[in-house]
Amino acid sequence: MPKTQSLLLNQQQMGCGGCGGRTFKVYTPDKTALIVLECDVCKSTSLVEPEPASLKIEWGDGDGRITVL
Ligand SMILES: [Zn+2]
Repeated sequence: MPKTQSLLLNQQQMGCGGCGGRTFKVYTPDKTALIVLECDVCKSTSLVEPEPASLKIEWGDGDGRITVL
């Protein structure tokens, strides 16, 4: 199977929430922090940017869990 087909398995095609367009131009100012998608039909833009990760601490075995004292 070609690599591009395997990457698209179990993916849903996304579209413009305004006009339903399915094609977009993709822009980025620096390739790491922000991707701007522009709908080819109505020229609406969507921003795709990473959200900073946070740590989640759950209970394990025993009566305590690590915390800030
Ligand atoms: Zn659109």
